[in-house]
Amino acid sequence: MTAPGAPAGQQTVRRHNLSLITTALAAAPSSRAELAQRTGLTKATVSSLVDDLITRAIVVEGEPANGGVGRPARPVRLDPDGPVALGVEINVDYTAACVLDLTGELRCYQRHVVENRANGAAEVIEQAAAVARAVLAEAGQPLLGAGLALPGVVADDGTLLRAPNLPGLAGARPGMQLADALGAPVLVVDNEANLGALASLRADPAAGPDFVYVSGEIGVGAGLVVAGKLFRGASGFAGELGHVVVTQDGPDCGCGGRGCVEQYAGQDVLLRTAGQPDLERLEAAVTARDPAALIAVAQAGSALGVGLASLLNVIDLPKVVLGGMYARLFAAITPPLTIQLNRRVLAPRRPGRLSRSPLGGDAAVRGAAGAVLDRALSDPAGVDWPAIV
Ligand SMILES: [Zn+2]
Repeated sequence: MTAPGAPAGQQTVRRHNLSLITTALAAAPSSRAELAQRTGLTKATVSSLVDDLITRAIVVEGEPANGGVGRPARPVRLDPDGPVALGVEINVDYTAACVLDLTGELRCYQRHVVENRANGAAEVIEQAAAVARAVLAEAGQPLLGAGLALPGVVADDGTLLRAPNLPGLAGARPGMQLADALGAPVLVVDNEANLGALASLRADPAAGPDFVYVSGEIGVGAGLVVAGKLFRGASGFAGELGHVVVTQDGPDCGCGGRGCVEQYAGQDVLLRTAGQPDLERLEAAVTARDPAALIAVAQAGSALGVGLASLLNVIDLPKVVLGGMYARLFAAITPPLTIQLNRRVLAPRRPGRLSRSPLGGDAAVRGAAGAVLDRALSDPAGVDWPAIV
């Protein structure tokens, strides 16, 4: 996005200045004069950059606002009809996709129940690509790029290093395969709990800057947000809450260990204990005060609380945001969870320590698309924007 023929130093400065403008507009729409004030750039520089962004349909200038003194200012905002970000989530028993416009508004969303456990990588990716194509067709806007959420440990190069519940994909590079299938760039590939954490922070800044996002699916994971940033550990394995041990000689776990949180509080165990075939019917049974469902949720909440207390005692984060099925079962699972946290966490009790992700079970797929927006808007010259015709 640099001016052709400009010297390298000027290109670097322009790239930096563009990022100042888009970052400011991601926070709030502003007139050109306000943008100059907010960024410290000259009005002439702001105008040149805004004109460039308008030609690429990244920003749009609104009608002049009435009521002020002097020449009315025209608000500049990110263009909701411009390029869009695609989020794709491949999970153990479902695939989801969504489209966010540049302002972060949800344009389209689909979630399909699909048993991915028994499928090989090619089959899983093709099914995910089909869901992605469907939401993109519905949105009908040019694609900026995609983000992919995966239920396992993802290396920096996008390799799915470890996915105990999705063995067909372990060792694969699903982001590259999805990019090939879609013919579009996949800009972000990350663990679903990490992306769920980022989406929850974006949707509810009050959750931050320090919290644990707990993702409850067939697997159980945690995204650790410290000072507003994800904490991944030395090699990306941080937050494997599902494999914190609750009982040393408990049931075998897919990770090779025994007695992990996932074996007590994961979706498979929860449904089996409750005698329910799926989450919808478990929710209905809980609402109807079915004794088996209530006991199953209480046992899961208690085990999750034991594991979570260990995590909190090690990393001392003040808040816990529940996502995935724990968000859906929030009212029923919170009491047994709270009992364990109050009993076992050494840090002082805090009011409002537990909260429900505002995005419910959709945080990871929303986070995948949101991470694409964050990357593109923090450095618009660092990504290839789709040509606008
Ligand atoms: Zn385990």
